[in-house]
Amino acid sequence: MGGATICILGGGGFIGNHLGRRLLSEGYRVRSVDRDDHRVRDLSDRAGFEFRRFDVRDEGRLAAAIHGCDVVAHLSSLCNPSLYTTRTLDTIGSNYTQALPVIAACREQGARLLHFSTCEVYGRTLAGFAPDDSSFRQDPANTLLSEESSPMLLGPLHRTRWSYAAAKQLLERTIEAEGRERGLSWTIVRPFNFIGPGMDFLPGVDGEGLPRVMACFASALIRGEPLPLVDGGRARRTFVHIDDAVDAIVRMIDRPGASAGRVFNVGHPENECDMAGLARLMIRAFEELTGRGFGPGVKEVVAEDFYGPGYEDCDRRVPDITRARTLLGWEPRIPLPEAVKRTLSAYLGTAGVLPA
Ligand code: UDP
Repeated sequence: MGGATICILGGGGFIGNHLGRRLLSEGYRVRSVDRDDHRVRDLSDRAGFEFRRFDVRDEGRLAAAIHGCDVVAHLSSLCNPSLYTTRTLDTIGSNYTQALPVIAACREQGARLLHFSTCEVYGRTLAGFAPDDSSFRQDPANTLLSEESSPMLLGPLHRTRWSYAAAKQLLERTIEAEGRERGLSWTIVRPFNFIGPGMDFLPGVDGEGLPRVMACFASALIRGEPLPLVDGGRARRTFVHIDDAVDAIVRMIDRPGASAGRVFNVGHPENECDMAGLARLMIRAFEELTGRGFGPGVKEVVAEDFYGPGYEDCDRRVPDITRARTLLGWEPRIPLPEAVKRTLSAYLGTAGVLPA
């Protein structure tokens, strides 16, 4: 589909930036929409690239930006766990209400919607409710998250962390219904912890607040402070490098017949570790990259002290990627230590610890 025009809403963010560069290199035209252009500023003179600076809540400019585009990649979202509990209305607004005009504009203008949801719609795993040593918990079938068969298990109302997952889930259901009842052409991506250069921010260096785990750990490494392990670092995640993830996304754009009307998990099932293990990997990568030892180690922090009331963790997220493998011919390739090293190296560049 090279030559087609792709509108990236949230094109200045971590995923949008990487996706836009890859699409340009494959001959697509990219119209990038964001309030912030700092990641994509160097692309301003690149043939085929256009940046429009506005807030996606501006419906007039939104419809104009989508006009003439073949595909709309919708990445604009407030997606940081520290905000789900503290700015719950903004979380729901950004992940549901503000996305409705995007759906309507795509339907009215006949553009394909490539919507970025989240693996968090699955919530907790069935296995996570069983005792640690039970056979039910050990059975991978109760852990693996599959697009068409896994339940979506969110917590009670006072656990406000789930506001994000609930908003994303309702949006997925809206998109599916728009397709079935009104002819919207759609594909939904469920990202499983994408990592890579430019993800989030380092507090006090290029942003403020509490970023996601890799940036928190990188920040502690750079400051020479212990890495904070929430509730002992027992929660598990799989991480996929952004280059692998973008490869899957471009295949969805290239193959409308395979991707239309489907949800895809995008993650790396073999890249799993608990957060204590991730901290060890990051310390090792820091020592290798800087050539100096790291003494402070880790410290345990209580989830509600770290995030405030309302937080509850996802226990585990292992994607079943059979669908992406089969329909897109996609295979994630970058192993976890390498993905961690590349991500950390970029943070060290941003902080001036290594040359940028
Ligand atoms: N976490 C941690 N230390 C931190 C930040 C996060 O141990 O400094 C944990 C968090 O409690 C969760 C995991 O790391 O278990 C991943 O959190 P993240 O914020 O990256 O987002 P999530 O994967 O939950 O969407």
